[in-house]
Amino acid sequence: MSVAIIGAGASGVLTCFHLHRLKPGTKIYLIESNPVQAGKGLAYSTGDETHLLNVAAGKMSAFPEEPGHFLNWLIQNNYSFTEDSFVPRKLYGNYIKSILDALLPHITLIKQEAVGLAKKGEELEILLANGEKVTGKKVLLALGNFPPSSVGGVSNEIKLHPAYHGNPWKETVFKNLTPQENIFIIGSGLTMVDMAMTLSKLNHRGKILSVSTHGFLPQVHEKTIPYPDFYADLKNCNSVNSLTIKMHRHIARAARNGINWRAVVDAIRPHTQELWLHLSVQQKKEFIDKIRHIWGVARHRIPAESNAILNNLIEKGQMKLKAGRILQITPQQNQLLVEYKLRSNQQPEQFLADRIINCTGPESDFKKVLSPLVQQLLRNKMIHCDPLQLGINAHADGRVMDEGNVPSENLYTIGPCMKGILWECTAVPEIRHQSLAIAQKLVK
Ligand SMILES: Cc1cc2nc3c(=O)[nH]c(=O)nc-3n(C[C@H](O)[C@H](O)[C@H](O)COP(=O)(O)OP(=O)(O)OC[C@H]3O[C@@H](n4cnc5c(N)ncnc54)[C@H](O)[C@@H]3O)c2cc1C
Repeated sequence: MSVAIIGAGASGVLTCFHLHRLKPGTKIYLIESNPVQAGKGLAYSTGDETHLLNVAAGKMSAFPEEPGHFLNWLIQNNYSFTEDSFVPRKLYGNYIKSILDALLPHITLIKQEAVGLAKKGEELEILLANGEKVTGKKVLLALGNFPPSSVGGVSNEIKLHPAYHGNPWKETVFKNLTPQENIFIIGSGLTMVDMAMTLSKLNHRGKILSVSTHGFLPQVHEKTIPYPDFYADLKNCNSVNSLTIKMHRHIARAARNGINWRAVVDAIRPHTQELWLHLSVQQKKEFIDKIRHIWGVARHRIPAESNAILNNLIEKGQMKLKAGRILQITPQQNQLLVEYKLRSNQQPEQFLADRIINCTGPESDFKKVLSPLVQQLLRNKMIHCDPLQLGINAHADGRVMDEGNVPSENLYTIGPCMKGILWECTAVPEIRHQSLAIAQKLVK
């Protein structure tokens, strides 16, 4: 029995762990294109200790049946954090990598990019960038997060300009940064917060302007009394409107009882996938159009430490956040002149940027993803985009669907690749369950 996993982030590593535990003799290949990310993935490869987890340590165990596993690892490694601490993501990367390191005698880790996949009899054959091939009876696509791609108003010429940084996770994003530079950030979500943390740490003195469609900042985490599970009240809702009304009612009820709205959002998280699966494609589109931005800031919250740093930058007038859209960007020698239109104002405004950073979040429309493997898989019809264009079309259990919506028996996917199918599946609290469930299928 052989299984090949493409991608060695948290999803790939945890599936590997369960595979080996469930069926020790299984031949497991783990393939990772970026050697620095092997065992960490994108999110936890950051070297900047100001980039914090957005989930408290007590909820970040890799193993749901051992909730204290991450915290114990921290203690064993002489870090003094509590279950409520928001730990640097860098340490979480070391934690997941320690799980991979313990597996290394039992698996084959291949540090190569997978560039193709084809059926070969009963098996699947993966082509690697160095021309070698790996065959597996079953293959898991644990491809994770791809860099953001296109943004309206950013031409192909600008994308090639040295002052434009299209990938905020590249180590060159702050290369040759001078303290007085004026920085334009596209987006106001968690990646923008990471950029602001780094700039603050570097004592950056130039202006920072973040422009996003709605101009909302992520909300901050606060410790609250838990709100009781109210899934029973939501599970028969068959429209976005009825879900929204009921959520508001529970938030109001919570407030009357001295409970913060955050507890209501958290109470629904374990059921988000079921609620999502219950909605029609049309209703999911309606959610994305009308509610996504509000849900996003309420659900993806930032630690109080990060919020304080951000507020300091804003209060001293160094950083501004605006709601609007880019009209055009024109090169001015080494700089870029951004012309943007605010939601509240007809008159366009301008910002002369020394550096522009695209922080619009991972690209999930696979047609736009610049990965040779993804493009080959789409061309060969081995994967298809889900109806919302948020990832791979798959059964809820991870089996990749063919054109006729028939689930494959040997090609699977997991994590962020399944956002369109499960919505709430891109973070560790979900991935740790998903990796076990998929491993159970892969060993059959
Ligand atoms: C910046 C950021 C911060 C985050 N912070 C948190 C957090 O605090 N808490 C939380 O729970 N979640 C967080 N998340 C969510 C995150 O998606 C998950 O926690 C988790 O890291 C996803 O793991 P993954 O393995 O699915 O994806 P990734 O971590 O993206 O790993 C996928 C890996 O696959 C590799 N790969 C892709 N294509 C190929 C190929 N063709 N060949 C070989 N290798 C390939 C990539 O190089 C990459 O290393 C964050 C996400 C981001 C982007």
